Amino acid sequence: MTDTLHHLLAVQDADTSITQLEHRRAALSDTSGLAAVEAELAELEARHAEAATRRAALAETQKGLEEQIAAITERRDLVEKRLYAATSSSSRDLQAMQDEVQHLTDRRAELEELELVAMLEQDPIDAELTTLGATLSPMRARAEELRGQVAHDRAEIDAALASAAGSRAAEAAQLPTALADRYETLRARLKGTGAARLIKNHCDGCHLELSSVEVERIRALPPGEVATCEQCGRILVPS
Ligand SMILES: [Zn+2]
Repeated sequence: MTDTLHHLLAVQDADTSITQLEHRRAALSDTSGLAAVEAELAELEARHAEAATRRAALAETQKGLEEQIAAITERRDLVEKRLYAATSSSSRDLQAMQDEVQHLTDRRAELEELELVAMLEQDPIDAELTTLGATLSPMRARAEELRGQVAHDRAEIDAALASAAGSRAAEAAQLPTALADRYETLRARLKGTGAARLIKNHCDGCHLELSSVEVERIRALPPGEVATCEQCGRILVPS
């Protein structure tokens, strides 16, 4: 193998490594399990948020009822005080005050009933929130752990990519322009592989067998002459 072809194979190997590293990098979220955990987490978070909204609406209703009950109680206490203090009032006035006290008492009982309903409706939601929280908590921790792992793996891949890009550049600088151009054109057309090794009588690019006549012809080529796989068109380097 000539030095030039040796450099060409080194460029091809670096390119293959770079492609593999880029695929691994892009798939990290899936392969680590992070994507699946994130999806499950998002669904549970949405359910939790929805239950919390329902609970907050009931709590708001309860608060409104409590305010109304407090205002009614205050009004009733006031009327009752007047009623007991009213020594000189007419019986019609006394009757009116008694009627109001009765009306306020009835109204307060109605509102207290509604308040009880709003409180009771919160109980199953509280239980739901507790259950969701118990699942969410370890899942959030797991997602955090996986995010850390993915970040670590990504940094490692980035370092490997930088190193591969460095050696690729150094090897590519050794290639004649025409050969480099031919390699790039083939690589773009043939799934990232522009140069393949001839291993025994197989092309390592397309994995097809070459005729023994062709293999002999290629192995007998003078140094500097570049062979091509007659099946796939890749630059073929005898190994
Ligand atoms: Zn081939």
